[in-house]
Amino acid sequence: MLTITAGLLGILIGSFLNVVVHRVPLGRSVVAPASRCPGCDTPLLRRDNVPVLSWLALRGRCRHCARPISPRYVVVELLTGALFAAVAWLVGWSWVLPAHLYLAAIAVALAAIDLDVKRLPDVIVLPSYVVAPVLLAVASAGTGEWSALGRAALGGLALWGFYYALYRVKPGGMGFGDVKLAGVLGLYLAWWGWPQFLVGAFLAFLVGGVVSVALLLFSDAGRKTRIPFGPYMLAGALAALFTGADLAGWYLQIFGLSPVA
Ligand SMILES: [Zn+2]
Repeated sequence: MLTITAGLLGILIGSFLNVVVHRVPLGRSVVAPASRCPGCDTPLLRRDNVPVLSWLALRGRCRHCARPISPRYVVVELLTGALFAAVAWLVGWSWVLPAHLYLAAIAVALAAIDLDVKRLPDVIVLPSYVVAPVLLAVASAGTGEWSALGRAALGGLALWGFYYALYRVKPGGMGFGDVKLAGVLGLYLAWWGWPQFLVGAFLAFLVGGVVSVALLLFSDAGRKTRIPFGPYMLAGALAALFTGADLAGWYLQIFGLSPVA
């Protein structure tokens, strides 16, 4: 029941994230004015603004000018719904839930914006330095695990420092936006535990590296094209949440080391 409710909430939030993804890079308000068709500028009727269903009912075209509406709007809504449902299923109805739903929401928005314009906007990342610690403190209050909060602070600093070092060593590779996002993700990863921290940090480079090599081989993206790294950092962090300490234990075993307790 909670999983379904969270999924439906996620679809609604996803609909809002579409507005965020579209307007934030342009520096426009996400609250007003109401959504309009980018083709003919007609304000959307309420019934044409229902997540997923309206797009299906209109068969992906504007009611007025028949301009195609990108299926990406629906993908973002469904992806946010799926992530919210998965997070609710994993952590249950608990004090931990708000912190995790917040992460899921910013992950979708930031990944989409980074893919679009190769930026991770400060208006989303910087407030997260306040929102995430507050929500993680709520989570720690609920679980009584105050040590997790101290670990989170260390992890945020450590991952920020690691990305900052990479940024300084090779400024063309990593953007400073990636450094700022790393601090936020480090908070979450370490709050879950050090094994998750290592898994999340490592997976970003593993997945990012594989995709970059594939792009170099199979597309005309030149060696100089900056590949947005935010989506891999976010995917790595979410993968660390869902696979948890298991994955860390598994790859320590591959290297002949005993699993982390
Ligand atoms: Zn139109």
